[in-house]
Amino acid sequence: MLLTPRAPAPRTRPRTPRRLKATARLASAVSTCLLAVSAPATPLGVGDRLFPYLGNPGYDVTSYDLSFTYPGTNSEPLRAVTTIDAWTTTPLDRVNLDFAHGKVDAVEVDGEPAAFTSVGEDLVVTPDGPLPGGSRMRITVRHTSDPVPTEGREGGWVRTADGLALANQADAAHLVFPCNDHPSDKAMFTIRVTAPTGYTAVANGLPVGVERAARATTWTYRTQHPMATELAQVSVGRSTVLHRTGPHALPVRDVVPTKDRAALERWLTKTPDQITWMEDKVGPYPFETYGLLMADAITGFELETQTLSLFETDLFTEPAHPAWYVESIMVHELAHQWFGDSVGPRTWSDLWLSEGHATWYEALYAEEKAKRPMEARWKAAYRTSDRWRAAGGPPAAPKAPDPGRKISIFRPNVYDGAALVLYALRQEIGRPAFEQLERAWASRYHDATATTADFVRLASAFSGRDLGEFFQGWLYGGKTPPMPGHPYWKTAASQRAGAQ
Ligand SMILES: [Zn+2]
Repeated sequence: MLLTPRAPAPRTRPRTPRRLKATARLASAVSTCLLAVSAPATPLGVGDRLFPYLGNPGYDVTSYDLSFTYPGTNSEPLRAVTTIDAWTTTPLDRVNLDFAHGKVDAVEVDGEPAAFTSVGEDLVVTPDGPLPGGSRMRITVRHTSDPVPTEGREGGWVRTADGLALANQADAAHLVFPCNDHPSDKAMFTIRVTAPTGYTAVANGLPVGVERAARATTWTYRTQHPMATELAQVSVGRSTVLHRTGPHALPVRDVVPTKDRAALERWLTKTPDQITWMEDKVGPYPFETYGLLMADAITGFELETQTLSLFETDLFTEPAHPAWYVESIMVHELAHQWFGDSVGPRTWSDLWLSEGHATWYEALYAEEKAKRPMEARWKAAYRTSDRWRAAGGPPAAPKAPDPGRKISIFRPNVYDGAALVLYALRQEIGRPAFEQLERAWASRYHDATATTADFVRLASAFSGRDLGEFFQGWLYGGKTPPMPGHPYWKTAASQRAGAQ
């Protein structure tokens, strides 16, 4: 999140008192206009290598205020109001927001009606006059938010047996609300949900108010830390909210389908000790609360939504899963609160930093708690690593998502393939330096975003030598480099070559 405004441009329309005050504080400079007034509205992006049209240039969001009204059925759109507070970072004739899959009724910029049009997956807003760079702006969008998916477009609202949840990663927050839908732009969130009596709503952060009326209740939640749009969570359901206490009196809050409460309790009691275990490894838990949201839905994934991770109930009720496996998946999502949420990826190509670390602590927990040696897992990963690189690209240069399946960037190359890189690093620099690096990474970049280059730099600092070449092969090479300390580990391809 970037709160410091950049250089302002000369004012080109009468300013409101609020904007006058903001711009008057700033040093003067001139920037060029992003768009000529006469240019047609076009979808814009921040140039992410994997998702070129995600996010938008020219502004930095400081906060979102989201209001949803759930109609009591999953087959009709929710009514919604999204208010975005942002700083412009360049003069803007238009403001592009990411938004698709809802009907826009009205848009205001700084309280004044603004023209708008939809192009691609962007909502292009034209205020009544250009906005100078380095000024505050407030955009209010009245819209619907449709939980019924369109063919070939996945993510956003998850329809559960008793309500809704969110799964926005990687590019689907803007199917739910207008936003700057890229992980590089974190912001604070206030989320308000009105639902008919009998439902319970929960969102990221802590509750700040409940208003009960005759037929509906409005819940309000607010984050205490900035968050990426992909990590937003809104749950509406026939839910019970369970409270317990973690280390340092951390409020631990789980949201479960009321009917499954008893069956899930034995798993939920494990969270406080898991948080303590993670804190011992990498330092203090980074947020104001944590807990599990159990969704009665077949999603095919778990998701580290900030402060409230989303899980399929089936993961816990399917008797075929051994306990150590279920617990290590719980730790995977918990580890993401440090790696992926608090320290967010700057671009989607930095995803290996999130998934690699979550996989690492998932495996380390299984090793320490269930005697599942990590080395066996990494040896197996090493065997397959070349194939993963061929299929999905090297860990830090992943291939683009498959057409129509944008979550297909979540391939083995960024999970075990990336955790294998961390193992190679630990082998290379030794356990003490590696463990110091992990703690420093989590604390230095907390509440921020970081890149692969940042990690390489910090690792070099903690090892006392330049690791650029080491990482070049491990992160960007088409072939997996030799594993330090294990000269006889072979990839499947080299095994075949050796046999010929
Ligand atoms: Zn993960």
